[in-house]
Amino acid sequence: MNMDIIRAAGHILEQGGLVAFPTETVYGLGANALDEEAARKTYAAKGRPSDNPLIVHIADLKDLYPIAGKVPQKAVTLAEKFWPGPLTMIFDKSGLVPHGTTGGLETVAVRMPDDAAALALIRAAGGYVSAPSANTSGRPSPTTAGHVLDDLDGRIDMILDGGPVHIGVESTIVDMTVDPPMILRPGAVTKEMLEETVGEVAVDHTILAADSKTPPKAPGMKYRHYAPRAEMTVVEGPLERVVDKISELSAAREEEGHRTGIIATRETMHRYSGKNVKCIGTREDESTVAANLYAILRDFDDDGTEFIYSEAFASDGIGSAVMNRLLKAAGHHVINV
Ligand code: AMP
Ligand code: MG
Repeated sequence: MNMDIIRAAGHILEQGGLVAFPTETVYGLGANALDEEAARKTYAAKGRPSDNPLIVHIADLKDLYPIAGKVPQKAVTLAEKFWPGPLTMIFDKSGLVPHGTTGGLETVAVRMPDDAAALALIRAAGGYVSAPSANTSGRPSPTTAGHVLDDLDGRIDMILDGGPVHIGVESTIVDMTVDPPMILRPGAVTKEMLEETVGEVAVDHTILAADSKTPPKAPGMKYRHYAPRAEMTVVEGPLERVVDKISELSAAREEEGHRTGIIATRETMHRYSGKNVKCIGTREDESTVAANLYAILRDFDDDGTEFIYSEAFASDGIGSAVMNRLLKAAGHHVINV
C-alpha cells in the first residue's frame, strides 16, 4: 500500500471530492459522510435516487459512538465479532450525520470494511466515509477497478485499484433499532452466524419474496438494481429438470435469432449445449458463486446478450445473498420446474 496515494485520496475526500476504493465486498464510491454537498455529488455521479441512503464506513469502533444516537449491547457484541467485515448495522443517527447522507432518514447505516487500503483511506479522510457501491445506479455492482472505470470514468476524482474483491456481494444489513435485530439485506455474514452471536434475528420477509407488494425496509432494495441489460430468468427446481428447462428456453430464443446466455455451475457446465455458457462457480462452495456473479452479468452485457437463464441457488448461508441478488437482477422473474 502506497501511503502517499492514500494521503492524496484522503485529501480529496476532505475537500469534498469522490474517490472509489476497494472493500472486501464490492468497490465503494467514497465521499465525506459528514458533508451534505459530498453526498449530493455521490448521488449525481451514480445517478442514484436521493432517497436511497448511503452506508457510513468507519475504521475504528470508537468512531461509531459520535454518529449513532444509541448503541445497543447486541451491536457492540456483533461489532466485536464481525468488524472489520461484511456487516452493516443500522442505528438512530446523531446530529453529526446530515440527512443528505441518510436519504432523509433519522437512522444511519454503519460498517467497518475488511480491507487495509479502505481502512487507511477512511482514517486519512477524517474517519467517516460514505460509500455506496461504485457503479452507475441500476448496473451490477463493481468487483474490479475496471468495472468502476466502465461506469464512472470522468465523474469521479480518483480510483484506488486493489485488484478483484474477495466476497463479491454487498454487506449484510441488520437493523439494530429493533429487537430482535432484523436482516434487511442478506450478505456474507449469514443469519446463522448472527444468531450464534446474539440469539434470535428476524428477517425482512421481502428479501426473497417473489412478488411482494410490501416495500422492503432498506430503501435501496426496492429498486431493480444489480441488473444486467438482458432480460433474465431464474429457473428453480431439481437440478436435472432445471438444466433441461434452461436448455429448452435458451434454444427457443436462439431459434428466434436472439443472443442468449446461460449461467451454469461446475457441476452442470458440461450438460449445456448452448454457445454462451458461463460457469459461475461450484455448488460445493457458494461463496465462489457470489464472487463471480456481478462480473458475469457485466460480461453478458458487454457481449450483447439479450436473454440470460440462470440456475437457482440455496436459500440459506451465502446462497441466500446470491439468490437475493439474482432475483433482483431478474426482476423476480422465476420459473419453477
Ligand atoms: P449500497 O451502498 O449501494 O450497497 O446501498 C446501500 C444499501 O443500504 C441500500 O439498500 C440502502 O437502502 C441501505 N441503507 C442505507 N442506510 C440505511 C438506513 N438508514 N436504513 C435502511 N437501509 C439503509
Ligand atoms: Mg449498490
